[in-house]
Amino acid sequence: MILNRLKDIWFLFGRLFPFPTKPGLRRVGCPGRSSPVLVTCNFELTVRKVIRTLEHDQIDAWLLVAPTKGINVWCAASGGHFTADTVISVLKTSGIENLVDHRKLILPQLSAAGVNIWALKDRSGWKPRFGPADIKDIPAYLHRGKQLTERKHRRVGFPLKDRLIMGTNLAFNALLFLILPLLLMSIWVSGLWWKSILSVLLLSVLTSALVFRLPGKPGVQKGLSLGIILASVFAVVALASRTMGSLETLGWSAGIILLATYLGFDLPGWSPLWRADVNELLRGVKNTQIRIVPEKCIGCVLCDLVCPANVFGKNPMTRKYEVLNLDACQACGACIENCPTEAIENNFRTGVCSCPTCAVIKGVKSLTSAQHEEQEKELAATNSCCGSTDCEDNEVDRVE
Ligand code: SF4
Ligand code: SF4
Repeated sequence: MILNRLKDIWFLFGRLFPFPTKPGLRRVGCPGRSSPVLVTCNFELTVRKVIRTLEHDQIDAWLLVAPTKGINVWCAASGGHFTADTVISVLKTSGIENLVDHRKLILPQLSAAGVNIWALKDRSGWKPRFGPADIKDIPAYLHRGKQLTERKHRRVGFPLKDRLIMGTNLAFNALLFLILPLLLMSIWVSGLWWKSILSVLLLSVLTSALVFRLPGKPGVQKGLSLGIILASVFAVVALASRTMGSLETLGWSAGIILLATYLGFDLPGWSPLWRADVNELLRGVKNTQIRIVPEKCIGCVLCDLVCPANVFGKNPMTRKYEVLNLDACQACGACIENCPTEAIENNFRTGVCSCPTCAVIKGVKSLTSAQHEEQEKELAATNSCCGSTDCEDNEVDRVE
């Protein structure tokens, strides 16, 4: 029990690394031939949380653990490790087909960034549907007869608890880059390494905790704001108390500003709310463009169903869907992956991961691409919908 809790803590704070558990079938409770079949990734913490949540509500279920290289659902789906093929492989090898009478499959909503539900349905013969975004909402979803009636169950947030956990991951990531220079500099400046580690930890947690309160746009601007505020306070206290000389105070203040700016830049890559795009993070300029081509939209609702950011809305006149809140788009690609008519145009779906490292590579490319700028302008100029069609507002059942 204690060992499991310690492992949970390590999994939470060490998200930089994959933690694989064996793929395959898990029985939760005493599942029978009509029990629900759920799918998840093989990140060990996620598997434990799903099982714990189901057991807590005394739900008997089959859980298929897909081979996603030990990466969590959203990152694996975005990075191409959680796809229709991944799900089909666990369906075929687990023997689940002989254990249930139905063919209904419940996928985590955030897997939509990588799993094309139509391809999965055609190729497996199963009837997949996306469940809620958060593990804690699975019992309510099952009790409601597998209907996602509440919009909030399909959206992701970034509450303080998650921000504090991400703050420690942010620090860990920064220290990986800083550890060598710090050790070298500690040869000349005594105590620098532990003071720097403490500063990185403190600044990371503060950046994550205060991100919604800091002035500026997510990215460099918010980090710089925090750095200036903290460096000013630090300089006043250090000079007033005469614990440091003016040169040393200046050095530490500059270090605080630089570090906070870097952490502000890095945080969106760890968050579920902002896109890790170097253009957006450096310049604070929205770089994401997405639009629905009205002539192609059949109003199937799937884009709205899988979107974790509430970007879409239905036009009551045309009964088609349109982009209502472009600023919220995190460029996860779930809607594009699953639109049955390829009606969603965008300037970001590249099929590669959007982690900070990949974002830097993509950003450098986009900064030098004139074609990219042209595409942006073109999409921005036509970001509206005006067609008409008949559609049922019957979300998941349409997928079946
Ligand atoms: S998924 Fe595609 S076809 Fe369906 S409502 Fe959205 S844009 Fe229209
Ligand atoms: S609109 Fe943006 S955030 Fe929403 S599903 Fe599409 S790509 Fe993801």
